[in-house]
Amino acid sequence: MQEPEALLRLQEIDLALMRHKRTLENLPQRAKVEQVKAAAKKVSSNLTAIVGARKDLEMDIADHDAEHAEVEGLVSAAQDKASADSQDYRSVRDLEGQLSMYAKRLEKLEFESAALYERLARAESAEKNARARAAQLEDERKAQVAAYQAQISDIRSQVDDLLSERGQVLEDITPGVVARYDAARRRFKGIAVETLAGNCPSHCRVTLQASQYADLRHAGPIAECPYCHRILVIGDDSAS
Ligand SMILES: [Zn+2]
Repeated sequence: MQEPEALLRLQEIDLALMRHKRTLENLPQRAKVEQVKAAAKKVSSNLTAIVGARKDLEMDIADHDAEHAEVEGLVSAAQDKASADSQDYRSVRDLEGQLSMYAKRLEKLEFESAALYERLARAESAEKNARARAAQLEDERKAQVAAYQAQISDIRSQVDDLLSERGQVLEDITPGVVARYDAARRRFKGIAVETLAGNCPSHCRVTLQASQYADLRHAGPIAECPYCHRILVIGDDSAS
């Protein structure tokens, strides 16, 4: 490759590398993965609360069941004692009083249990929904991560190709011109080389005067723009 052509290709490669770097930094999947992670974190903390509430309800129900069994035991004990004892009027009245009190306690316990079971059913349904949502978010996260990695590996392979081509292109450029290019690249943070289209530099687009043009043509194919001071490549087809 001729040096001016190699220099222009070097700039194209470097601009492509800059674009790839920016693309990598701003991949939408990266933000999407973060969004999904944040949503999953929220679902997970909701789920922890739901599971805690569900376990509390189960314990309350177990307590009610135990108390219910205990009162039922008291009822049978009272009935057994009444059938063993002599049945005078007073003891019958006492027994009825006791049994009625136990019946009220049982009724209250059953009423409360029914409400607890209703709340448990709601908690179980909420837990099921939260687990399904968590699983869905996990699938989404995996898909986004896979898409992100696929895009990264695609860009990296393009970057690798560009870097290897860059090495070859550099072999066709003299070290002095490479040094000028590197300095211009640092200075202009991007376009370091412009070409001449007619008598107008391609980047700064300030039309050259006829004498400047003649001087540049004389200076050789790799000159410097008198206006913006970028490297100016003057091709054979550049004409005034
Ligand atoms: Zn210029």
